[in-house]
Amino acid sequence: MADQTELVFVDHVTQTYTSGTHQFTAIQDVTLTLKAGEFVSLLGPSGCGKSTLLRMMTGLQRPTHGRVLYRGSVLTGVNPFATIVFQSFALFPWLTVQENVEVALKARGMSPRLRPTRALDLLDRVGLDGFENAYPRELSGGMRQKVGFARAMAVEPELLCMDEPFSALDVLSAEALRGELLELWTTGKIPTKAILMVTHNIEEAVLMGDRIVVMEKDPGRVIAEVPVPLPHPRHRKSGECQALVDQTYGLLAGQTKAEPEELGTAPGEPGKTRELPNVTVNELAGFLEHLASLRTQRADIFRLTEALHMDSDRVLRLAEAAERLGFVVVDHGDISETPLGETFAEASIQARKEIFATRVRRVPIVNWLLTMLQAADRHELEADVVQSALGLEFPPEAAERQLAIAIDWGRYAELIAYDHSTGMIYLEAEPVSKFG
Ligand code: ADP
Ligand code: MG
Repeated sequence: MADQTELVFVDHVTQTYTSGTHQFTAIQDVTLTLKAGEFVSLLGPSGCGKSTLLRMMTGLQRPTHGRVLYRGSVLTGVNPFATIVFQSFALFPWLTVQENVEVALKARGMSPRLRPTRALDLLDRVGLDGFENAYPRELSGGMRQKVGFARAMAVEPELLCMDEPFSALDVLSAEALRGELLELWTTGKIPTKAILMVTHNIEEAVLMGDRIVVMEKDPGRVIAEVPVPLPHPRHRKSGECQALVDQTYGLLAGQTKAEPEELGTAPGEPGKTRELPNVTVNELAGFLEHLASLRTQRADIFRLTEALHMDSDRVLRLAEAAERLGFVVVDHGDISETPLGETFAEASIQARKEIFATRVRRVPIVNWLLTMLQAADRHELEADVVQSALGLEFPPEAAERQLAIAIDWGRYAELIAYDHSTGMIYLEAEPVSKFG
């Protein structure tokens, strides 16, 4: 019988961060396990806490509440059984490719005599045969990542953690490297007992994992676990894979909520202020035009990522923005444009601005900004002041981003104006002296 030892047990973990007076819950009450023999994909939107969870499992970070156990013992420092591969692997620039791998072998205590052969073998396995004497700067991003993999495998970790390992690579390198990793894993050529891969790419999660842990953000929580009972090799175009991709999309995109929760509350008011999805109106308009150009009632969100050459995270953000503005309805991984969305897509620029203005006024952050401008002396406010007000609700980076999005959306709707040189925001609709 296969070894099914429980390796990782994340036990009711919560992570909060404090910035100034603001306390923010990055991860809320997450529980999950990882057994020997499993390849688990951890999937969720940017900011849902994937990297944080990975850092906890490798012992690089301790949770605010709850505990993380490895083989039944609470982790109190770095987890000696785990290795982490980052999106961009930090290689030693002054060492050759081979020496970079040998460093890891040396750390494991392998004798100098055995190291070169083993390093060359590992490099060969990840497809870097012939590049052993190159320096990192001479390699492409994909090749550097391969060195990263070779080095992680040199450690022969029991638990291999990967944080979006393919996301910085071009499509072909990513595809090749995924195949090589799966080959090593499924044939048992590496002693690794379990793999946890963080990704925000749904297709990648389905193609590689035996199980997909799906998270949502605000706060970061596990919302579902999807088993992937398919043997390798898997084919992305197969019906089974597509069905799982659709199902997972549905989990991430189709969370229909009651209206107040859907729109959130204004900053400073009781209740949660929902962040504006980070998309520009131009991107949104392009997205709605594309949907209108499809001759179908419902489009599969996942297929859109291919048609639009965007990653799934981006498409989900566009879908979320469009849905919140009432331009589309998302349901179980399918998206359909509302009559309003179709009208927008086909309207002239001026008509678009008017349609957009009626919708964007309802969005709490924009509405709040408009109300404050209305109340302000001369209907103008310093962007810095607005940003610090948003800072009561969001961490600093997010506050800055939220303001930038609100300004972009509000300017497009011609509801507000923003002067970069002075950093002042104005109410556009009012006859302010500034504009003559
Ligand atoms: P993911 O990897 O899913 O994109 P992260 O784990 O990096 O998410 O971050 C989760 C949330 O916690 C984000 O909102 C991020 O801004 C916040 N965060 C992460 N690390 C810190 C930190 N050291 N201080 C404050 N906030 C943090
Ligand atoms: Mg991350």
